[in-house]
Parts: sequence; structure tokens; C-alpha cells
Amino acid sequence: MSVDLDFLRWDDTLTEDQRMIRDAVREFVDTDVLPNIGRWCDEGTFPEQLIPKIADLGLLGVTVPEEYGGAGLDYHTYGLITQELERGDSGLRSFASVQSSLCMFPILKYGSEEQKRKFLPDMAAGKKIGCFGLTEPEGGSNPATPRTTAKKTANGWVLNGEKMWITNGGISALAVVWAQTGNSPADIRGFIVERGTKGFSTPEIKKKIGLRASITSSIVLEDCEVGDDALMPGTDCGLKAPLSCLSMARFGIAYGGIGAAIGCLEEALDFTSTRKPFTKTLDHYQLIQAKLANVFTDICLAQGLAYRVGALLNDGKWIPEHISMAKRNNVRMALEAARTCREILGANGITYEFHAGRHETNLISVDTYEGTYDIHTLILGRHLTGKAAFD
Ligand SMILES: Cc1cc2nc3c(=O)[nH]c(=O)nc-3n(C[C@H](O)[C@H](O)[C@H](O)COP(=O)(O)OP(=O)(O)OC[C@H]3O[C@@H](n4cnc5c(N)ncnc54)[C@H](O)[C@@H]3O)c2cc1C
Repeated sequence: MSVDLDFLRWDDTLTEDQRMIRDAVREFVDTDVLPNIGRWCDEGTFPEQLIPKIADLGLLGVTVPEEYGGAGLDYHTYGLITQELERGDSGLRSFASVQSSLCMFPILKYGSEEQKRKFLPDMAAGKKIGCFGLTEPEGGSNPATPRTTAKKTANGWVLNGEKMWITNGGISALAVVWAQTGNSPADIRGFIVERGTKGFSTPEIKKKIGLRASITSSIVLEDCEVGDDALMPGTDCGLKAPLSCLSMARFGIAYGGIGAAIGCLEEALDFTSTRKPFTKTLDHYQLIQAKLANVFTDICLAQGLAYRVGALLNDGKWIPEHISMAKRNNVRMALEAARTCREILGANGITYEFHAGRHETNLISVDTYEGTYDIHTLILGRHLTGKAAFD
């Protein structure tokens, strides 16, 4: 493919380090991921063998300070990393998002000094994988009323309940679990539950139609006893704590959608430059060019939105609604881009030999998790009108 897709010259705005990191992740995806991802999806396996390389590249705990083993980088750089990872596969990006934003972030922000020292360096090194248990079988859109309970005992806490659709569950050494310790959203607390704790198990959810190169599990907690040191002390702010983790992950997802869409457009451009069902290659035809032009424009618009939100995060001027808008828009954009590009591929589009169909089925999940498209619509509606339309 000869055309430069950095149409708005975003590269000019990057630092040398940001460009280097972005390019290193791009090369990793081109070399280690794209040649194999179709097979991993077909088999329904997550490539655990890549974890050491992902860790060596510094992709776990990107914004976590170096003293805890992280890379200590800014949010825009983190976003560029998730963008490149998702150009490979949404499952790969999900793995990194959960580890960094849903597990390392809460331990850093709400954990005790002892918890930070115990878990973060090993997590940054990929030696310990984490998962995040918020969603429950009865519904994930309303996290304010978990049925999972944590009851205080003389020696610590006993947890009971079930979490559902948990990314990385089956390969995790620890789970950040959110449980009700009283009667109201203010009583929701976060606990770090380590594998091997009696009463903790993670049955895998199989037969998924998307995100097949990602582990999805339940978390079952049956009279699961943990010590007082499992409670993250800073989570005494109730529901705000898990929601803040979701904001961090959703931010990375907004960039990730751009990557998936770029991957689809690159493939469609290659394909249409050689495919010749009539007298000329497909890229000569106006209907095809219109589709390519629309996808290209949508990607550029999504970059403007996400990169601005990244700058707001770096400046500490963001609100959760910024992230809702970016996640909602950019993932739906990517889903539509993948659909259009898969259509351009004709029958080839439904195979794992090509990427757009895989991205499309992945993005159905990405559009659903971390707040569905409609839930983010309601968040923006509340921002505009001052009226919550959830209950
Ligand atoms: C592959 C995958 C990985 C995931 N990983 C994790 C993870 O690691 N950790 C975790 O905790 N969760 C995870 N999730 C769960 C995810 O966050 C939830 O699926 C999501 O929040 C939606 O919850 P739900 O599926 O229970 O749908 P529900 O909440 O039951 O909603 C069903 C439908 O109703 C709509 N709806 C809900 N409420 C309203 C309303 N008030 N008004 C209008 N429409 C409404 C929703 O938009 C949706 O379309 C994952 C999900 C998937 C698919």
C-alpha cells in the first residue's frame, strides 16, 4: 500500500519517543500478530506466549510510574499503543487494557503501599496477569447494585457471588473484585483476590462469535475468605472507584477503535488495487472509492476526537463524558468501517485469511463492553439535559 494514511499529519505532533514507541508496537503487530491471528481466532486461544514480549516492549502499565515497574508515560502515548495493538486484534488490546487500566490502575490509585509493591512490578513484567470483576450475570449496565457481597469477619472478609464476562479471567493470577459491603453504592469496595484462594474459580466462557483470541471467564466466589490486606483501602469512595477504572480503559478503547479501522482500510486498499472482477481493478470504480473515502474520513475524525481527549487527560482537564463520547463514537465508527471493508472483500471477507471480518465480529463485543453504545448515549444525554434517563 503506497498512500500515507496519516492524512492530517498527526505524526508531526508526536515527540520522537512517541513515534518510536508507536512504531515498535506496529512492528510487533506486523511481525508477531498479524501472520498468526487468524489461526488463534479459529482455535479460540489467546497467545500467552506473546506476554513476555508485550511486557518487554513496556506495554503493561504504560502510565504506571517507573518506581512500580511501569513505563511512566503519558496518556496519549498509552492511547497510541492501544491503537497499534488493536490494529492487530481487539483481543490483544483487551488483554493489555485490562492488565493496565482495570487492574494496575486501581491498585496504583486505591491500593496500599504494600499492595502496590507486591503486585505492580510483577504485573508490569507480565509475570502476574490480572482481571477485573465488576459485571454480574444479571446485567452489566448498572454496576451500582452488585449482588456479590463481602462480609467482615474477625480475620478479614468472606466473599460470595459471581462475576460474568471477565477478560483474562482464566489466565489471571489475581482478580480485582468489586463487592457490596453494606446496602448502598457507597459501600461498594474493591478487593484483590489471588488465585489459589479457597472458593475462587474462573470457569471459561467458550463458543464466542468474536474476541476469540481473548480469554473470557466467569469468576465464582464461594465463601471465599481473604485477609484484611485484600481490601484496597482507597476504595472507600464507593462506586466512583470502579467507574474511574472504566474511564481509563474506555479511553484506551477509543484509540483502539482507530487502529482496528486503519487495519481494515489498509487491507481494503491492498485488495481493491489487485482484484479485477470486471475489466479494471476494483479501485477504479466509484462505488468502491466512495466506501474507501467514507472510511478514511471517519478515521480522521475519530483521531481528532480521541487525540484531543488524550490531551485533556494529560492536562488533567477531562471529565468522564469526554471519554464516553470518544469510546461511543470511535468503536461504532470502527465497527461500521470493518463492515464496509469486509463487504469490499466479497466472499474473502468472511474468512480468517483476511482481517476485516475478524475485526467486525470483535468490534461487536467492544461496542458492548465497557458501557454499551446506548449507555454512553444516555451518559451524554444526561450531560446535555441534566436528566438521568437510566432508571
Ligand atoms: C467479550 C467481553 C468481555 C468483557 N470483559 C469484562 C471484564 O473484563 N470485566 C467486567 O466486569 N465486565 C466485562 N464485560 C461485560 C460488559 O462490560 C457488559 O457486557 C456490558 O456492560 C453490558 O452489560 P450486559 O451484557 O449485562 O447487558 P445489559 O446490562 O443486560 O444490557 C442489555 C441491553 O440493554 C441496554 N440497556 C441497559 N440498560 C438500559 C437503559 N437504562 N436504557 C436503555 N437501554 C439499556 C444495553 O445497552 C444493552 O443493549 C465483558 C463483555 C464482553 C462481551
